[in-house]
Amino acid sequence: MKKFEIEFLPLNLPLKRKFTISRGSRVEVNNVLVKVHCDGLTGIGEAAPNHRYRETQESAISFLDAMGYYETEHPFDISRLVDKMEEQAPGEYSAKAGLEMAIYDWIGKKLKIPLYKLLQAPGRTGPRTTYTFGIDKPELMKEKVEEAHPYPLLKIKLGTDYDKDIIDSIRELTDKPILVDANEGWKTTDRALEMIQFLDRRNVFVIEQPMPSECVEEMRELRLKSTIPLMADESITGKESLKDLSTQFHGINIKLMKTGAISTSLRIIHEARKLGLQIMVGCMIESVIADTASALVALWADYADVDGHLLLTENPMKGVEILPQGHIQVRDLPGLGLENI
Ligand SMILES: [Mg+2]
Repeated sequence: MKKFEIEFLPLNLPLKRKFTISRGSRVEVNNVLVKVHCDGLTGIGEAAPNHRYRETQESAISFLDAMGYYETEHPFDISRLVDKMEEQAPGEYSAKAGLEMAIYDWIGKKLKIPLYKLLQAPGRTGPRTTYTFGIDKPELMKEKVEEAHPYPLLKIKLGTDYDKDIIDSIRELTDKPILVDANEGWKTTDRALEMIQFLDRRNVFVIEQPMPSECVEEMRELRLKSTIPLMADESITGKESLKDLSTQFHGINIKLMKTGAISTSLRIIHEARKLGLQIMVGCMIESVIADTASALVALWADYADVDGHLLLTENPMKGVEILPQGHIQVRDLPGLGLENI
């Protein structure tokens, strides 16, 4: 029998600049650092709670506090942990993701093997990551384009009534390929189609969540008409029918903080592949700890948006690396491959 002590601490992370999307602005994110201790080894994880799913730092901490500890005869069978967390309470997927990540990190350390090898990833280098711009006035784009200099792909948040001005002001400065995230910001099919036509002439390679998740019929029409691949984000939390989503979108954006586990994310990826869906792996605003776990999952993806940690003033550890051409790479170290700075 193994008994894991669960430790959790508030992880408050100031952002380099105010970050705005169609739902609101933030200057700091309030995440939770998760540690598990057993056999003299420590596994590390992070929860990044999201208000859209009614999760907060406090609710994530309450969940972990209520778990107390994790005792099991089968520490290497992660599905038992996932079941146990589901029995503990519904929802709270970020806390669940943080704990599963920590246990997985411990497993890799205990077996002295990097998780990318244990989980048989295609390699330790993944797709190029995008670098995200929150919503801002078009006149601020010059500064942001300069800041994004090291990264070859941009992700631009839209969903305003001046979306075209934002894109035009960026296009005056750079022709880097752009991934657009509307965060449900286009409320009618006509508006979405007008934007897709506009963006199609401006080197936009993917659009995330053009319309609200409840617009199922509208999305079916849009998927048939769009000349740019459309990715589900707010429309997928991990519980939906992938077959139904495949009638609305060309692909899905998977996030650990929504699926609640690395293992669940990998299962969804394999099922989505069978339906011909493209795969993107994204993140919340999270430190390098959770981004390293997201990067691990992104090793199986077509597109990666694993830049949360790049938006912070500082990071607590060393983890996922971004190679000069923008590709993500996990470290060749046991577990997640995190290192103290
Ligand atoms: Mg998104």
